[in-house]
Amino acid sequence: MSSAETTSRVIVYALGGTIAMSTTTSGGVAPALSAHDLLASVPGLRESGITVEVQDFRRVPGASLTISDITALATEISDRLTDVDGVVVTQGTDTIEETVYLLDLLHAGPQPVIVTGAMRNPTLAGADGPANILAAIQTAASPHTRNQGALVVFGDDIHAARRVRKTHTTSLVTFQSPDGGPLGYLVEGRPRLLNRLTHRTVVPAKPADGIRVAVVPVTLGDDGTTLQALADHVDGLVVAGFGAGHVPSGLVSVLETLCARVPVVLSSRTGAGSVLATTYGFPGSERDLLARGLISAGYLDPIKARILLLTLLTTGCDQPTIATAFGAAGGYTDPSTWPWPIKCSKDN
Ligand code: ASP
Repeated sequence: MSSAETTSRVIVYALGGTIAMSTTTSGGVAPALSAHDLLASVPGLRESGITVEVQDFRRVPGASLTISDITALATEISDRLTDVDGVVVTQGTDTIEETVYLLDLLHAGPQPVIVTGAMRNPTLAGADGPANILAAIQTAASPHTRNQGALVVFGDDIHAARRVRKTHTTSLVTFQSPDGGPLGYLVEGRPRLLNRLTHRTVVPAKPADGIRVAVVPVTLGDDGTTLQALADHVDGLVVAGFGAGHVPSGLVSVLETLCARVPVVLSSRTGAGSVLATTYGFPGSERDLLARGLISAGYLDPIKARILLLTLLTTGCDQPTIATAFGAAGGYTDPSTWPWPIKCSKDN
């Protein structure tokens, strides 16, 4: 390791999850271990020379984390940026794809914010928590991962917040970036980025709980009843359409009406690839829906699109600004059009 890494200071926030679970008296496992306990089980950490501070922030399963928990964490991180070189967050894997993206949208500093967890709890043979924590700390301590926003480090892969998804219920390599692949890998304890993000997408916002952005997957024969039932209860909607962004023709007028009231984002339920813009011309096609005012999610999957939309809604920005932000974040317009640009150079 270089001297820059071995003299680095990293703060670890523990939020619970499988990585911190132990057996309960009523059966099963539940979050129990402190941040201190987690670090104590990591071989090789002391030898790395990296100065590590730990904070117990929450102790819950990933499913019980809230938007306001992550906003509070982002504020806490921003308050500590003057005295740390990097940040690690340990939490339940169930919601990592959402929390890492929200942290990425809220974190303006050059320091890496690394989110990790474990698929096997500490009572199991081959528990992956200690290796993931060490890799996350090594990545957070490295000067090579600066200005890449929030990242997921898992199974020695390094993923961008905007692309990473949990793809498997139990696999140790559940985290994948179907569009573009990982940014890099940990090799002999050092992060190697093969690709670097060219732009950041930071939003000046502090989203709270209570903003209702629903994600609605369309399904075969969908007649729009479900969509109509929730129309009056949402501040925004993400439609997870078929294929490249398609819905049954019967849904078109429901969506058009909704669109006049709240932002409606069109994404794909396929799990990879971008929503198209100019290919199909039938009622309910992407051309039709975009012409009626839906906003394309581009490459953002439905879950990421929801996080972006609710964050944008808290800025109070108008619908054209929301559409502009989706263009840049979704990868289908010039990234320089992002409404709140910040530098992404490796050196600042
Ligand atoms: N399976 C989850 C985990 O990996 C449970 C959770 O998200 O808390 O941590």
